[in-house]
Amino acid sequence: MDVRAVSVRLGGRPVVDGVDLGVGEGEWVTIIGPNGAGKSTLLRAVGGLVAYTGAIDLDGRPGGTLGRRERAKAIAMVAQTPVVPPGMRVIDYVLLGRTPYIAPLGRESASDLSAVDDVLTALDLADFAGRRLETLSGGERQRVFLARALAQGARILLLDEPTAALDIGHQQEVLDLVDQLRAERGLTVLSTMHDLSIAGEYADRLVLLAAGRVVATGTPREVVTEATLAEHYRARVTVIDGEHGPIVIPKRAKHSP
Ligand code: ADP
Ligand code: MG
Repeated sequence: MDVRAVSVRLGGRPVVDGVDLGVGEGEWVTIIGPNGAGKSTLLRAVGGLVAYTGAIDLDGRPGGTLGRRERAKAIAMVAQTPVVPPGMRVIDYVLLGRTPYIAPLGRESASDLSAVDDVLTALDLADFAGRRLETLSGGERQRVFLARALAQGARILLLDEPTAALDIGHQQEVLDLVDQLRAERGLTVLSTMHDLSIAGEYADRLVLLAAGRVVATGTPREVVTEATLAEHYRARVTVIDGEHGPIVIPKRAKHSP
């Protein structure tokens, strides 16, 4: 995936401002940055969900020339809080991922159903197929969102804060699963993430976005430093070197006695 000079204006101001960003096949790149930096908007531009200027190539093809169906076959996105029609069962929700393969007003084919079956099995969701989404726990529901995206058969996966609502165990479960699927299926992953230690642990590369611009990019050890976090998050932190990347520890303010 190749993003060149991409800008998005919303409400009369630039929210994403001249971003350049490449993600190689099979790579996992995570966008970090303070609240309101434009992370979700950038992801939505890559997913073709918001109008942008600049160029985005997907799988070597100009994204602007792809129709909705073609784009959906190339790239799948999991929004931070996906909208779920009330009362919907897991299997029907995951089947929505097959929409780009089903003719308008047509019905799903046997191959769509078997693709859904495969994904439900791979994500350990077969027992949940008949359950309504609102009866699932946060971690289970996040797996279902991922299942819908995988059923889409796209090789590029966009994940907007995929673990924001999850406890630490379920965060790990979901991210390990993404990493495993990336290895098994050769997926390319572009995500946004809140937790800097976890972002650095899973991503090959980090892109730090501030006020719509890329202000740092590189390996997690290059990007997650006390100096960059002080400058762009206005945060007092200690960064220590962990086994799989930097670990960020917040420091409380000093009060005089
Ligand atoms: P992040 O995901 O990094 O927290 P977002 O991409 O959600 O940031 O938002 C970036 C900025 O764009 C924020 O200041 C937000 O208020 C603004 N914004 C998002 N959507 C709209 C919109 N539809 N109209 C106007 N401003 C918007
Ligand atoms: Mg966001």
